[in-house]
Amino acid sequence: LKKKASAWGKEASDVNLAAVLGAGIMGGGVAYQSALKGTPIIMKDINQDGIDLGLKEAKNLLTKRVNKGKMDAGKMADVLNSITPTLNYGDFKNVDLVVEAVVENPKVKDAVLRETEEMVRDDAILTSNTSTISIDLLAKNLKRPENFCGMHFFNPVHMMPLVEVIRGEKTSDRAVATTVAYAKAMGKTPIVVNDCPGFLVNRVLFPYFGGFSGLVRDGADFQKIDKVMEKFGWPMGPAYLLDVVGMDTAKHANEVMADGFPDRMKADFKSAVEVMFENDRYGQKNDKGFYKYE
Ligand code: NAD
Repeated sequence: LKKKASAWGKEASDVNLAAVLGAGIMGGGVAYQSALKGTPIIMKDINQDGIDLGLKEAKNLLTKRVNKGKMDAGKMADVLNSITPTLNYGDFKNVDLVVEAVVENPKVKDAVLRETEEMVRDDAILTSNTSTISIDLLAKNLKRPENFCGMHFFNPVHMMPLVEVIRGEKTSDRAVATTVAYAKAMGKTPIVVNDCPGFLVNRVLFPYFGGFSGLVRDGADFQKIDKVMEKFGWPMGPAYLLDVVGMDTAKHANEVMADGFPDRMKADFKSAVEVMFENDRYGQKNDKGFYKYE
């Protein structure tokens, strides 16, 4: 954290066209926010259901803006038209910056990032929205690691101001500067952080989830814990937050954190997240987690 995000200006390249890989909770949010703030974006997924969900979410958010009088129908159509959904890499040669937002699995991300690197220009910036996986680990098999860094948004993307820009060992100043500039163009507040599992925010958040799991195991009622944490001043409690994040994503992220910091993060009992995951309770994404959603 030696240099403030505001100091990364000069080296930035223009981002006239972005792309996001994965049209899930995060990818859909990134596409919406980029388009809303004026940077057209290609949204790629491997299945049509993902694309449909991502577009539906963008449409819902835009409809809310129209209903509130913040936007007219013509502008809404323009924003929607600047999201290009696709199942292939068709236009990726024109892309200036890619945000990878596929599942939180190092092997899948490694394969997807290597494949994408072949599809973009040599000067395009590749970023990953990984929650916890080390940027240096993801850069290991890339041909141009200098063009790669983390770009970690928070959920829901349209509401959460913070973006962590994670600088790996080989990341160039240009990659950091371009990612910082793109985050700002999206109306976000970027911070540049060093690389380690969980970066900054999740190194705080996941031990908190661990504390929550321990309390539940000791017999505490999760709803009461949520109410207490709300009274403490947090916008939502840990159980509700895990439902928003998604139990699959939280489980994968927890594993990465436990591997990275075994002395601090490895619990000798099953976490509440694992129990929910094993019972197919993924949270809001499948309408049942700690709470039920219809
Ligand atoms: P998600 O399960 O909602 O979406 C993942 C999407 O990726 C799916 O639509 C899937 O079809 C698609 N996908 C899988 N393989 C692909 C491939 N090869 N190419 C293109 N698309 C592919 O997951 P999510 O919650 O959006 O998480 C995505 C990433 O963002 C993860 O790395 C996660 O850790 C990170 N993240 C999640 C949150 C959160 O709160 N959920 C917050 C910050 C960061």
